[in-house]
Amino acid sequence: MSTLVERLEAVRERIRQAALKAGRNPEDVRLVAVSKTHPPEAIREAYAAGQRDFGENYAQELVRKAEALRDLPDIRFRFIGGFQRNKAKLLVPTGCAIETVASLEGARTIHERAKQLGRRVEVMLQVNVAGESQKSGVSPAEVPALVAGVRGFDALELTGLMVIPPADDDEAARHSYRTLRELAAEHELSQLSMGMSDDLELAIAEGSTSVRVGTAIFGPRPTPR
Ligand SMILES: *Cc1c(COP(=O)(O)O)cnc(C)c1O
Repeated sequence: MSTLVERLEAVRERIRQAALKAGRNPEDVRLVAVSKTHPPEAIREAYAAGQRDFGENYAQELVRKAEALRDLPDIRFRFIGGFQRNKAKLLVPTGCAIETVASLEGARTIHERAKQLGRRVEVMLQVNVAGESQKSGVSPAEVPALVAGVRGFDALELTGLMVIPPADDDEAARHSYRTLRELAAEHELSQLSMGMSDDLELAIAEGSTSVRVGTAIFGPRPTPR
C-alpha cells in the first residue's frame, strides 16, 4: 500500500502533467488537499511534505482542526461545504477562505463578522451550472448580480468561482467547467475552483486554478456523513 506522502507526490505529478499538456504553468494550479473526515495527524503528515492548503466541508470540524494545528503557522484552510449564514460565526475567526458563498445575505453575514474582527475574508461564489436541485450554488444567470453585491462588501475579497459538477458524467463536467471559466472571465475573476480526484486533468484542461483533491491523497473517507 502506498503512503500518504507517495499519494500526494502522485497527485502533484498528475497536476504537473495535466498543466503541461494544456500548455499551462503547473504553478498556476493550486492543490487543495481535502481532509474532511481525516484526523489532524493526516494533515500534519501532508504539511510535513510541503502541502499548505486544506479543504474542509464541515464548519465545526474545520474549527477543531484549525485549533489542533495552531502550531503550523502558514497552514491555510478553505471551506468547501454547503455554506449557511450561521456558519460565519464559526468560520471567520479561523481565517479560512469560504468557497461556497451562494447568496447576498450569506456574503453580508461573513462581511459583518469579518468587520467585527477587523479581518478580510477571501470568498468564492459557488455556481450550480447544471441546475441540480440537490446542490447549492447560484445559477449562471444570478452570477452578475451576486458578483456586484459581494464587491460592495469591503471586508470580502472575491477571488473567483467554484463548481461541483454532476457526478460520473465527463461531458456534463466539461460543460460546467467551461461555463465557469466563461463566467469568471466576464467578471474579471482570476480563480477557478474546479476538479477533484477523478477529473482533475479535465478541469485543468478547462482552466482550473485550484483543484480540490481528497481521496487520491488521503484514501477513502472512513465515515460517510
Ligand atoms: C469531498 C469533496 C472534494 C474531494 O473529493 P474527492 O473525490 O475525494 O477528491 C472536492 N470538493 C468538494 C466540494 C468536496 O465536498
